[in-house]
This record gives sequence, C-alpha cells and structure tokens, in this order.
Amino acid sequence: MPRFFKHLPLAFLAFLPLLAASFLRHGPLVHSAVWMPVSALLISLLILLVALNIRRQRHLTHLFKLASSLEERLLPFHTAMQQAPLSMIITDTQANIQYVNPFMVKRSGYSEGELVGKNARMLSSGETSQDTYRQMWEQLSQLQPWNGRFSSRDKSGRSYLEQVWMAPVLDEGGNLRQFVSIKQDISEQQRTLEHIQMQNSALELLTHNAPLPRILDTIFASSTLDHSGLYPVAFLTSTDKQNLHLASAPALPHVLEQSALSLPIDSHLARTLTQSLSRPGFNASPDLQNPVHAAARADGMHSYWSEPVLDSSGFLAGLVLYYRTSKSLPSSDELQLIGNMTDLIRLAVQRSQNLALLQLAETVYHNSNEALAVNDANGVFITVNPAFTRITGFSQAEIIGKDFTLLHSNQHDATFYERMNTRLEKKGRWKGEIWARRKNGELYPQFVSISNTYNADGSVRFRVSLFADISQQKANEEQIWRQANFDSLTGIANRRFFISHLEHAIHTATRQQQRLGLLFIDLDKFKPINDRYGHRHGDHVLQEVAQRIQKQLREADFCARLGGDEFVVLLEGNPDLEAAMRIAQRIKDSVEQVITLDGIDSHLSLSCGISFFPQHANTAEKLIHEADNAMYQAKREGRSQVIVSAAPND
Ligand code: GH3
Ligand code: MG
Repeated sequence: MPRFFKHLPLAFLAFLPLLAASFLRHGPLVHSAVWMPVSALLISLLILLVALNIRRQRHLTHLFKLASSLEERLLPFHTAMQQAPLSMIITDTQANIQYVNPFMVKRSGYSEGELVGKNARMLSSGETSQDTYRQMWEQLSQLQPWNGRFSSRDKSGRSYLEQVWMAPVLDEGGNLRQFVSIKQDISEQQRTLEHIQMQNSALELLTHNAPLPRILDTIFASSTLDHSGLYPVAFLTSTDKQNLHLASAPALPHVLEQSALSLPIDSHLARTLTQSLSRPGFNASPDLQNPVHAAARADGMHSYWSEPVLDSSGFLAGLVLYYRTSKSLPSSDELQLIGNMTDLIRLAVQRSQNLALLQLAETVYHNSNEALAVNDANGVFITVNPAFTRITGFSQAEIIGKDFTLLHSNQHDATFYERMNTRLEKKGRWKGEIWARRKNGELYPQFVSISNTYNADGSVRFRVSLFADISQQKANEEQIWRQANFDSLTGIANRRFFISHLEHAIHTATRQQQRLGLLFIDLDKFKPINDRYGHRHGDHVLQEVAQRIQKQLREADFCARLGGDEFVVLLEGNPDLEAAMRIAQRIKDSVEQVITLDGIDSHLSLSCGISFFPQHANTAEKLIHEADNAMYQAKREGRSQVIVSAAPND
C-alpha cells in the first residue's frame, strides 16, 4: 500500500474533532446544502479508509502467517545448525565470522563472542599448505563450492585435521554476500588410518625380513605417537640373553646418544628401567642414576610406562619404555595404543628371533654331517639335505616323491619295524641303529633319530629323520674292542676277555647246573727258541701254536693267550673228565708235532693242568689258579703231560 493511504485514517481522525468543535461553537458554518455533500464525501472517505485499513490488517495477518510458516520451515535447518556434530561458520566476503554454531564453539574452545566479528584466519593452524588455500580461493572466487582438508588449531593450541565444505552465498542479483562452511574433525579417523598404515608398513617390513631396528623405527615413526605425547624407547636382549641394549629412541635425542649402552639383565640399572622385568608398569619418578632415565629427563620426560617384550619361550626378549612429559598415568586410550605398539614389537621380535633360528636351522640343514630327511605321514620323501645325498648316494631329485623303503636293507625282520612303528605312534620318536642300503647297493649301519610332527587335529604331518653313517664309527669301535679283548700277536682272546667270558660262563653254568673245564697250557722250554732263533721267530711259533690249539676245539670252547707262552682253554657244554682229557691230549699231540717255520724245525712240548667248575673252584680266578697249579705240577713231574687238579673245592 502506498505510504499516503497508510496515514490517511489518522489524519481523518485528527480532522474529526476539529470539525465537531467548529460545529458545536458556530453551528453549521455553512449552509446544509453545502454541509450535506461535504458530510457525504467525508463519510464515504471514512468508509473507504476503514475498508482500506481492514485490507491492510488482512495483509498484515497474511504476512504474519507467512512469516510463521517460514519460521516453521526454517526450524529444522536451525535445529540442524544448532545440534549437528559438525562445525558451521558463516563469514562475510572478507572471511569475518558472522555466525558459528554451538559445535564449532565446543570444538574450537573459543566462546561465540570470541569468534564472531574476528577473521576466520584465527582458526588456522598454519600447517596447511598455501596451495590448498590458493585452490580454495580460486574455486570460491568462481562462485563454486570447495571441498577439501585443512588443519585448524583450537584455543589450547592443539591442531586438528578437518574435512571442509565451503560455499559462496549469493544474493538475488547473483552477487557474493557471504561464505558458509561446514567442517568435520577427521583427526581421529586420520590417526586410525595412519596407525593402520604404520601397521601395514611394519608388517610389510616383517614379511620382507627387514632388520629389527628398522621395523622398530617404522613403528615408532607413527604419527599416532606424536599426537599421544608418548615417547618410546626400545631395548633388545642380546643373543646370549645376558644384556639389554638400546635399539631405538627416535624422538628422544639425548636418549639416542646412549645407543652404545648395554645393561646386564640382572643388574640394578636394568631393574631400574622397570620394577619387574616381566610385568608392565608405570613409574612417576624414574631413578636418575640410570643414564637412560637421566637422558630422558634432559629430553623433558618425567615419567614412563614400561612394557616387557617376551619371546615365544617366555624369555625377556626386550623392553619398551613409553616416556611422558607429564607425571600422570597414561589414559585408557593411551594404554590401548601402548598395548597395540608393544604387540607389534613383540611380533617383530619373535619373528626376528624365529628367522634367526630358521637361518641357523638352514645353515645346520645344509652343512650338517648328519643326513636329514623329511617324509610325509605315508613315508614319502619331501626333502633331504646334502649330507643325505653324500651318505645314501640319492640326490634330491631322485629321492623326492619316493617311498622311504627305498633305503631298506632287508636286514631287519618285520618285528623290528613293528616295534619301531609302535614306538613312533606312542612316543612320537624313535632312535636306534639300523642297516640301510646305499644307491650302489652297499649296506651300511646308520644311527637314526626319527621324530613326528603333527597337524592341529593330532594326525602325523611329517616324519623328520636325522641319521649318520656309523660304518666308520662301527669299524673304530670294533678295532678298539678287538684291541681291548684280543691278543695282538696271535689274534685269539686275551686274559681280560677270557676272564670276562669265564665269569659269564660260570654264571650260566651255575644256573644250568653244568660243569666247566679249564685247561691251562704252558709251552715247555720255549725260551731257548727265542734265544736260538730270535724273538721274531719265537713270535711266529707262538702264532702257530695258537692256531693249532684252536683247531682242536669245538664250537662251544673258548681259547685265549694269557701272556708269554701261556694259553687257556675253557670247555663248555658240561664236559666230564674224559672229554676234557681227550681235548687236552689232542691239543698236546697237535702242538708237539714239529713246527716248521722260516725253514726252521721246532720241536715243542707242553704242560697242561685241568680244573673243573664247580668241582675245584667256583670263581674264575680260583679256577684259573687251580688249573695253573696242576700245570706246574705237570712241569715238576717232567713236562709234556696233562694233570688234573686235585684241589678240593671249599
Ligand atoms: P718252562 O718250560 O719252565 O715253561 O720254560 P720256558 O722257557 O718256557 O720259560 P717260561 O715259560 O718261564 O717263560 C716264557 C718265555 O717266553 C719267556 C720269554 O722269553 C718268552 N716270551 C714271553 N712272551 C713272548 C713273546 O711275546 N714273544 C716271544 N717271542 N717270546 C716271549
Ligand atoms: Mg713255558
């Protein structure tokens, strides 16, 4: 409505009292002929004005209704702006803040009054690249919305990353009036992402068998740690498990200077790194006698949380200290981060140790003198080492896929293999000597140790055999045994072997209640042969005598040279006097035949004494003694004769 009509009713109302006053004082001023049309005009005018006013009222009511419906429609948007967990800012074209929503107030730490009227630049952390801002302004200046990330700083000075959507607000004429921004704090997601990226990098390094200090540095380089205010320091246990040495302290330069530091695990200084080296713990007053703590203090640290790193066998493999600038206990979030980091380090340490063991095992596998073979549960060869090829003659290519029976020698009966299999089933391992066959058919003894490895369901996965060719060892043992038990000159048993055999025979004869006969033989006048033809010739004669004695014996009899020109024969199989005399006589006859050696004829005789078990003695020593006595009696009575002991057995 034009402005003039708006004020007409008032003017008319003001004019009415004047008209009434004039009428009352003067009566009708003018003739009723004049008055009447004027009154009619005025009344019509009044009616018109009242009508107009009613219309205006209606219009106002309409406007009011419009406004309330607009307000109703705007209410959800207002609620969204007031309650959304997103920061919203409206600025003028110069970036001066005109409006901030409550979340923005909360996130920034500033009050609404501290923000409104200030330039939005006050919220910038200074960590966003100029490029980002340039792109943003370019986009906005083209009146296009911009979507991007920048880093903001709250009132306490902590910076945080935001995902920002910013749009220009235009008036009806298309002119730039304001900017509206919606921002989301994504620092938490970013940290989680970076943490995952760090874990991935560390795991990748792990799978590529990177050196442990490098993996530790990667884990500690995580920006999650930067944000948390935790400053890690890692120690690793030396391979001999005696010392802790500093392995990584990327954020603490003074501590890093102690990199040559090595602390004996059971020392006081090592214990001051943690109260108990096998449990995690918090210490608000680090012992400054410890050079690590002293260096950390120089780096501004005041407390630490320590986490032991145990290897798969439960040994202390390392230690991680998480230093803090404050003296407060880590929060539950920080403890979770510490737990994650330490788990990752534990994995790295355990893997690195396993790798070292694997490398060691591989070296042993390749360089061992012992053959190593892995067979599957059915006995099929999976892998063998070079020593296996050296011993058996079969190369990897020839043996893989073949059955283990390829090495069988057929020297053992079915019971032998049954016993082996039963033990493997019950105990999971078997050890013992076994004859095997080389590729060239040669048989050889081997000492084998077989161990089962199992699947998760308890079924046999592999059989790992470790064996050594013991043919040389057996030959050596045989030689040593021969040297210890046989006479080197004649090759027959020596005194030691004879006595041991005799003791065993007495034991058996006692049990079986049988007799034993013992012949004690001494050559007559042997010394002159030595004197006349030389010691060497005497040796040959002694060898010949030994053979002649042996030739007269039965399978069950046992002959030995006690020393010099003394021989003994043990008669087993329950010999009676007659049988013993018969054998003694046969021996005597044989030895007393001329011995022709090196063109020299020797005529020898012998004296022989006989004793019987249990008739004359019941111990080896006594039985020999009685036979020896009888032999001496034969000597005394003129030599070249056989005499039976007369001694009673007491
Ligand atoms: P007797 O009739 O009393 O037995 O007289 P003998 O000459 O046989 O002397 P005796 O049995 O007392 O001594 C054995 C001799 O055998 C002494 C030593 O000269 C000789 N003799 C001992 N051991 C060896 C040896 O290993 N080789 C040789 N060639 N002679 C030995
Ligand atoms: Mg003699």
